[in-house]
Amino acid sequence: MRILVIEDEPRILGFLARGLEAEGFAVDAARNGGEGLKRARRDSYDLVLLDLLLPGLDGLSVLHELNRARPELPVVIVSARSDLPTKLRGFGLGAADYLSKPFSFDELIARIRVQLRKPGPGDNGHVVRAGSVALDLARREAHVGSIIAQLSDREFRVLHQLVEHAGEVISRERLLSEVWGYHFDPGSNVVDVCIRRLRKKLGADAPIETVRHAGYRLTAA
Ligand code: CA
Repeated sequence: MRILVIEDEPRILGFLARGLEAEGFAVDAARNGGEGLKRARRDSYDLVLLDLLLPGLDGLSVLHELNRARPELPVVIVSARSDLPTKLRGFGLGAADYLSKPFSFDELIARIRVQLRKPGPGDNGHVVRAGSVALDLARREAHVGSIIAQLSDREFRVLHQLVEHAGEVISRERLLSEVWGYHFDPGSNVVDVCIRRLRKKLGADAPIETVRHAGYRLTAA
């Protein structure tokens, strides 16, 4: 996922770039409106973060032009201007969202994820579902109700097995073999520990059942 940040304040730009990269995004930066518009038109981005008070072309003009050139590209305004008329102007020009500075980084990330989750044309092939669980294969993320959990490699692969075979009992041996590559019982409880972590991440409604002496099952109902 690539994000273009159009921001002239080096301190904020550095903070955003480091934080977004730590969240796994690829980040490009533009320091003024003209350059930002040029890059957003030319390169392929999944989302743009746009400051409004910029040298040269101001943010609202960038937004206006960008919305005509690439109407499908979500633009999130991040601005010190927090007055309602400016916000409404931004939404009127096609902004997907608006966050006032100073902002919480966690809130920014949550808002970005909401934008990136909106399915585009033909964008659903990487999500598998069973019951209340949706597993995003590209982002290695599980969604259960309002919970979005980032999964480790092993957690992801265990949940993937359970989702793909929802309703069936999957034995510990099978999980050990498929996920850990063990073709013998290593005499440890790695599977149980992994399931416990998954349940914790997915919340109380996680439909993972323990079937005594047999294994685990994801309830698909
Ligand atoms: Ca600025």
